[in-house]
Amino acid sequence: MPLRALLALAILLLPVLLLCFPSAVIAGRTPFQETPITVGEASVTYNFGQQAVFSIRATASADITALYLYLQLAGSERVEVTPVPVDPGPSVQATFTRDLRLFPFPPFGIVRWWWEVRDAAGHQLTTPASTFRYEDNRWDWSSRTAGPITVYSPVDDPLYMQAALDIAAANLERIARSLNTSLPEKVEVYLYPSLADLQAALRMAGRDWMGGQARPELGVILVAVPHDDAYMAQMEREIPHELTHLLVYRLAGPQGYLYIPAWLNEGLATANEARPDPNLDSLLERARNEGRLIPIRNLCPPFSTDPAEALLAYAESGSLVRYIRQQYGDSGIRSLLLAYADGADCEAGVQRALHVTLDQLERAWRADLSGVGKWIVWMADNAPGLALWGLSFLLALPIALVGLRNTKHGVRNNR
Ligand SMILES: [Zn+2]
Repeated sequence: MPLRALLALAILLLPVLLLCFPSAVIAGRTPFQETPITVGEASVTYNFGQQAVFSIRATASADITALYLYLQLAGSERVEVTPVPVDPGPSVQATFTRDLRLFPFPPFGIVRWWWEVRDAAGHQLTTPASTFRYEDNRWDWSSRTAGPITVYSPVDDPLYMQAALDIAAANLERIARSLNTSLPEKVEVYLYPSLADLQAALRMAGRDWMGGQARPELGVILVAVPHDDAYMAQMEREIPHELTHLLVYRLAGPQGYLYIPAWLNEGLATANEARPDPNLDSLLERARNEGRLIPIRNLCPPFSTDPAEALLAYAESGSLVRYIRQQYGDSGIRSLLLAYADGADCEAGVQRALHVTLDQLERAWRADLSGVGKWIVWMADNAPGLALWGLSFLLALPIALVGLRNTKHGVRNNR
């Protein structure tokens, strides 16, 4: 009871206490407004894949004794805090250099940064957060925009850039319609002049990858399209593929996207390529003839990093998704994506969306590949039932024969 009485008294007296000590309350809420610290300049410059230099110039009435740089990288909740050495004084200038070869930023991701400055009199100031996009600034990118899409290329050829923009616009529309999802507000397409250049960029950003790359959470796709006679074919293959990942992300959501099995995500992207790679078909056919097809179950996790195995994985997944689309339509694909986005595992997603097991789906697809009729697949699927039926028929046969013989005798006797 005394505790409760005390609490009641405190609640009653709270407005009076606040009136008596307004400065204490205000100072706690906004401690930096009256700080005598001024930040004259805070800036950042970087060389992609090399280093980023953060600079600050600050003054105060007392000596500035401590500087902290805060960094938050795209896709992470984590905030990195780095104390930056400073010679104490009323006016300081300091830089912090981050080695991007050892501590890369996510390529094309947004970097948030701000400073905290403290002086010997106990004041502190936190600068407002600034952001920049960590794009590959080794190239002088030209850009061209239509609707939500912006295309960037170091090759400033209007025909080449317009072709990329048209292909991106037409395919974004087509794929969004097939998935029954809305268009993203912004899509940025970076065209690298060669696969080696793209791979180098990704390696410099601490990533290893064999082809194009989509950063769906950023709305960015990176593709390698050499400026040669075959650029149209390359664009029609690469751009729809990467756009598919962006739209699957949009349909599934940031969390759901992580649950989409690789065979479905990569298979759909491959099946959506407007100019399919003819090599994938022959690769698939050869693997089938030689009995080397990878079981679909093994294509649920991300594909192997071995290039030959990864190519076969793309070929199989693309073919499987085309088969599902042919049998179940676009709505079947959408149901699958939504089932996985909802957290279903690789097996359960197929069961829930298509009402067959993963094994049944795989057998039907393989039969379709080899041109075997549907009834053989049906027999294979129903083999246990058929065997039981056959056995019971064989067991029942002698009884039926005896019965028939007795009937015949009876008939004969009756005659
Ligand atoms: Zn892909």
